[in-house]
Amino acid sequence: MLDNLTKRFSKVFKDIRGQSKLSEDNIKEALREVRLALLEADVALPIVKDFVNQVKERALGKEFADTLTPDQAFFGIVNEALIELMGKENSQLNLAATPPATILMAGLQGAGKTTTVGKLSKFIKDQDKKKKILLVSADVYRPAAIEQLKLLAEQVQVDFFPSDVSQKPVEIALAAQDYAKKHFYDILMVDTAGRLAIDEEMMNEIKAIHAAIKPIETLFVVDAMLGQDAVNTAQAFNEALPLTGVILTKMDGDARGGAALSVRQITGKPIKFIGVGEKINGLEPFHPERIASRILG
Ligand code: GDP
Repeated sequence: MLDNLTKRFSKVFKDIRGQSKLSEDNIKEALREVRLALLEADVALPIVKDFVNQVKERALGKEFADTLTPDQAFFGIVNEALIELMGKENSQLNLAATPPATILMAGLQGAGKTTTVGKLSKFIKDQDKKKKILLVSADVYRPAAIEQLKLLAEQVQVDFFPSDVSQKPVEIALAAQDYAKKHFYDILMVDTAGRLAIDEEMMNEIKAIHAAIKPIETLFVVDAMLGQDAVNTAQAFNEALPLTGVILTKMDGDARGGAALSVRQITGKPIKFIGVGEKINGLEPFHPERIASRILG
């Protein structure tokens, strides 16, 4: 994960090692490296510019503790700026709703939505075995997707609300919510259809589901390998739907890091989890400081 970015950043600090203080002159090369590292990771140009300016300002404007060498001080500044870029707080799942706390999953086909519903159910169950969870699929375009969710529910040992392709997505979601209320479920997770690209029909459908079931969490699931495209898609969904968070999948692959570094800034919404594998336990809460330390090596 993020190996290239890590390699690039290790060069950055080498440039400063051995200097006696941080000056405009001697951080020039390091800042150029930071800029290249971020551009290569597919971070959007305005974010990169802003980031580099901030690092520069802080590096030149600050008095450092005598105990820190200039490269340690510079490391600290870059680390802090990366964490801020990704969102300083650790964003937890919000389940504080009158039960069932409803979670709506949105995203393009292949992003990893259905797999993530399974992983998230397991994550919640691992934290609290007593939680009663119901899963439902409103993907009436792909019977295989409904079947996939059913199998995941069996694997994680949570309940599954059946649906079929003859039904309307909004009706499925409402029926599942009604059932969940009557049977005292704590959590209802609604998986939705994803298309290959954003289209109006798909947006209208998910907006209608959102309006009907009023979820406490509306999570946008997106493939981190798509880089800036992931961020653009997140932005489009964020304009159509009041997203409450983002889940970046496939962070175990050779994702370059651009999505993790820009999605928060562009959408204003926190990354809540990252997908780190195809297996059911391949999901981690998103900790900006952990990603920053992975990036900085
Ligand atoms: P959906 O169309 O959005 O519901 O996507 P799926 O849940 O069917 O996932 C599409 C593919 O991505 C499947 O092969 C998953 O195993 C894979 N996948 C999902 N999340 C991850 C992840 O975090 N890492 C890896 N390596 N693969 C993932």
